[in-house]
Amino acid sequence: MTAPRPYLGSPQETIAVLNQYKFVFQKKFGQNFLIDPHVLDKIIRAAEITKEDYVVEIGPGIGTMTQHLAAAARGVAAIEIDKALIPILEDTLSGYDNVTIIHDDVMKVDLEALTQKRNEGRPVKVVANLPYYITTPIIMGLLEKHVPVQSITVMVQKEVADRMQVGPGTKDYGALSLAVQYYASPYIVANVPANCFLPRPKVGSAVIRLTTHESPPVKVKDEKLMFAIIRASFNQRRKTLQNGISHAAELGISKEQTVKVLEEMGLSPSIRGEAMTLAQFAEFTNRVLK
Ligand code: SAM
Repeated sequence: MTAPRPYLGSPQETIAVLNQYKFVFQKKFGQNFLIDPHVLDKIIRAAEITKEDYVVEIGPGIGTMTQHLAAAARGVAAIEIDKALIPILEDTLSGYDNVTIIHDDVMKVDLEALTQKRNEGRPVKVVANLPYYITTPIIMGLLEKHVPVQSITVMVQKEVADRMQVGPGTKDYGALSLAVQYYASPYIVANVPANCFLPRPKVGSAVIRLTTHESPPVKVKDEKLMFAIIRASFNQRRKTLQNGISHAAELGISKEQTVKVLEEMGLSPSIRGEAMTLAQFAEFTNRVLK
């Protein structure tokens, strides 16, 4: 272990490292590196990392945020897909003996096994400036597969952050909002303009923190069925719940059954999914199963 390198989070330091290694940005990997120390600081503070914590970072890039995470946490596993970044990370993180660099596609990593190996199965904190092309599958994968996670503090597109935290009756409300809110409490930490990244993304960004619930806010007998119903009702966004469900033959729920359950619940038979709360989707599912 050598002495830690100076923190990288400035345009000058980042450009110096990129030039030293003749790094070429790969568009397909959603590479927009953070070059603003204030934003870095906000993410680290929002994640509330202590020396007790084990952190999983998805897409460390050249290691800008990883340095701060390593300084604050007991340990960090940083998963990076781009082979060209691995020697850079080995260099920029050489001053930290608590970082494990994993060269892999995060979608192929068994995160449950990773937390078992690195943190004896105790919940980890996930922190990342996510690659935007796979934001939703990464977050949904962490939540739906019940990876032991205490919180997820991530940079995402502004529009996706909005979708995660809104409630019924708004245009952004959908399957992602319901899934995120079933597993966690979302909180938007900061909006981040494009000039905080190199290269600049075309969309606005936001840092969101999802703090996972110890137990879900609603009781549902079959989680999988509830999310299948939710997906079916939002696949047909302008349609009523009964039409959305009847289009999803695999659910095996007839129109008559949908109408009967909605009536039992005191809801209009022509209600749309976008007007229903998480509690109502849970109740609908439980009544269908009766
Ligand atoms: N954390 C760095 C920062 O803030 O400067 C880089 C963030 S950049 C938005 C996203 C990073 O995720 C890139 O380093 C990219 O190569 C990496 N990445 C993209 N797809 C990935 C995948 N499937 N698995 C792991 N890393 C991935």
